[in-house]
Order: sequence, then C-alpha cells, then structure tokens
Amino acid sequence: MKLPRVGGFYFWGRADKKRKMLFIALCCALTVLSIVTYIMNRSVYAVSVDGKTLGNVSDRKIVDRIKEDLKSKYRDRLGSDIEFSQDIQVAPIRALGQKVDTEQQISEKLDKILSVQVKAVAIEIDGNQVAVVKDKDAAESALQGVKDYYVNASPGELVKIEVSNGIKLVEKYADPDRVMTAEAAKELILKGAVEIATYKVKQGDTLWDIAKAQNIPLDELIKANPQLESENRLALGEVINLKSIKPLLDVTVTKKVTYQEPIAFKTEIVKDDDLWKWDQKVKQPGENGTKEVAAQVVYKNGVKVEQQVLGEKVLKEPVTRIVARGTKAQVAFRGSGRFLWPLVGNITSPFGRRGREFHTGIDIAADKGTPIRASNAGTVTFAGRRGSYGNLVIVDHGGGYETWYAHASSILVSVGDRVEKGEEIATVGTTGRTTGPHVHFEVRLNGEPQNPLSYLNK
Ligand SMILES: [Zn+2]
Repeated sequence: MKLPRVGGFYFWGRADKKRKMLFIALCCALTVLSIVTYIMNRSVYAVSVDGKTLGNVSDRKIVDRIKEDLKSKYRDRLGSDIEFSQDIQVAPIRALGQKVDTEQQISEKLDKILSVQVKAVAIEIDGNQVAVVKDKDAAESALQGVKDYYVNASPGELVKIEVSNGIKLVEKYADPDRVMTAEAAKELILKGAVEIATYKVKQGDTLWDIAKAQNIPLDELIKANPQLESENRLALGEVINLKSIKPLLDVTVTKKVTYQEPIAFKTEIVKDDDLWKWDQKVKQPGENGTKEVAAQVVYKNGVKVEQQVLGEKVLKEPVTRIVARGTKAQVAFRGSGRFLWPLVGNITSPFGRRGREFHTGIDIAADKGTPIRASNAGTVTFAGRRGSYGNLVIVDHGGGYETWYAHASSILVSVGDRVEKGEEIATVGTTGRTTGPHVHFEVRLNGEPQNPLSYLNK
C-alpha cells in the first residue's frame, strides 16, 4: 500500500501494521458514535394552535412559508391585509419516533383551524364604534354619502353643512363577516336603529304635524304609508306606520332657496252715479302678481327647522280690482209707481181677467236664473213652496203693501230677513204652474191684488 507523501516524510513513518489497524478502528467507532448521536438528537418542529398539535415539520421556515401562502390566499379573497386570530406555535422536539408531515398536510390543517381577521377601518361616532369598513376610502365614502343624502333631501343651493358629532376612523383587524360595504355603512348611519312603530291619527293631525312631532322627514313618513294618496287624506283614527328613524349623525344643512309666491291683488271701490246704490259692476278684474322670495332654510337631518327670508323681488305687479258701486238712491217714478220692476223683461200675461180665471199679477219673462229683485225695502214674510205659485217669496213693505214673486228656481232669502230695495231675493224658474221661465209678480194692498203696473215705472 502506498501512502501519501507529505513534506518528504511518509505520514505513517515506519509505524507498524498493528498501530495502523488500531487507528482505523478508532476512526470507525467515532463515526458510528457521531451518527448515533446525530440520530438521537435530531429535531423536528411541532406545529400547534391554541395548544392543539397539528403535526410536525422538519424546518421552521416551512411554517413561515405556509403562513405567508395562507395570508396571500385570504388577501386575494378578501381584498385586504389579514391577520390570524390565533397564534401558531412552532417548537422543536426530538425527532426520534416522530412522523414528519408534508408542507401540504400542515397547510391544510392550519387552513381549517385558523380564523382570519382582515385589516379594516372602524368608524367611531362620539366614541362609539358604529361600523367597520374595508379601508379609509370606504369610511370616507360612507360619511360623504350621509352628507350627500341630506344635501339632496332638500331643494336649494347649499350654503353650509355641519356635523355636530365627533368622528374618528380607527384602523384595526376585524372579523371579515363584520366588514360592511360603504353603502351599507351609509344606510346604517342614516337610519340608526330602525324600529317600526304605528300612530293613530288624532283630530286635526296632518302628516306634517306627525312628521315633525316624531322627528321623521315628511317624505319618509309618506314612503312608509303608500296607502295615503296625499298629505290631506288622513282619516281620524286611522293607524299609520311610523318608521321612526334615529340617525347616528346629526347633520345640519343650510340652504339658500328661491321660490315664487303670488301677491294678492287689492280691491278698490269707486262710486258710480249711473248705477243704483244696490248695484255694483267690476270695472277692472283683479289679477294676482308674482314675487320671487329668497330665503335661508336650515334642515336638521332633513327636517326643516328654521327659515329666514333674505329678500323679495317683485316679478309681476298685481292688478287692482276696481269695482264701481252705485250711488243712485232715488228713482224717478212715473205715475203712482213706487216699486221697482223685479227684473227687466217683457210682460207675457197682464193683470186681470183671463178667460174664466182672474190673473192676480203680471208675468214677466226672463231666462232661468235671472235675478229677481225686491221691489221695495221690506221684510220677508214667506219664502218657500206654495201650490201653483211654486217657489214663492212674499215681502211686506208696511202700510198694507206686499209684493209676491212666484215660480222661482231658487230662493235666496228666509222668513224674517230684512231686504233692501233692489236686493236679489230669488232667481227666475219654472216651479209651480208655468209654461216657461218667468216671474209672476203681484202687488197686494191689505191682501187684495192690485194691478202692478199702477205701481211700476213704465
Ligand atoms: Zn202669473
């Protein structure tokens, strides 16, 4: 056997064969010992969650890798950074007699047992957590949605919007099931605790009153009661739904609104010498004007709480209604005429004998509905139906004089009424025995029919 030559010496020198053998044996023993020691002391890593051992891995790094893989899987699914709710313990143990799991086996076991929390943002209002959303953008979008809702809930131009609560956005890890969309968070903040109550309508209630008393926006109340067709149709005792809404934010919106309002016309009375004093004539019809009103209105959570008029601008002036009122009091009667004609028209049947009958008055024809005027001032002593007279009015003028007005379609006075000369007391009709619309007019003195023409201005 040739031994290597080192530095000009044979390593073994001249050592004898026995020593050589001993050395080799020693080397072998050492090798066996170290292999045994290695096997005896070799470690694997036990993986456990909440004290429950899931299995063993050969290297800590495997667990780190599994964690990263799982996190990225959840992150992809939930769209946000995640954290595991539980701690994963990795502890070295003696490998002798231990089964080592594959990376896949451990990964599956961990996936089953671990619950995750996603990175999210909690919205806190006045120190209370009210909603959890994905991130800061979602939180801000929810809050902006609430503000926009109130801004859009009323007409007009926005002057300012104020939120009187303290709002804080807090980053935290949360159960993915509790994370809401921005839209859902907005709805929750707008409606708060939603409870359905009912209300029984009392005497004099309007929907507006109820909305205001219950602090519910009127349109919400109307929405909650589709059976009501309009604000005016509230029946006494009716039970309506109150969707009582308690928003979590107090939002005050101030708006500048402009709206048009009518300006009522005035009436001016002028004297007219050509008209009888009981008569009047519209010389110029009135017409409402229009004005534009600018106002600042304050809404609290959609309910109008304050209004201040800032200014008014007349768009159209109203037109004054001018009424002429007669001044002519005295009538220049001819002959013994002391009574007015009850109406102007042709006499279709005169006073006196008419065949076998006696006509106790005169018939004056006129269209149905023509006003019948009192011939003179007096007191109504009869107003109602009387046989062939139909609707009849009798006016007592004193001194034994009465005037009768028959066949009226309507009677405008009652027994006991004091009437003025020329006052409208009935309208022409065809009640009783008639062949066409006319007034049958009588003048009676101490109960005896007189010829009316003797008393009328011919
Ligand atoms: Zn007659």
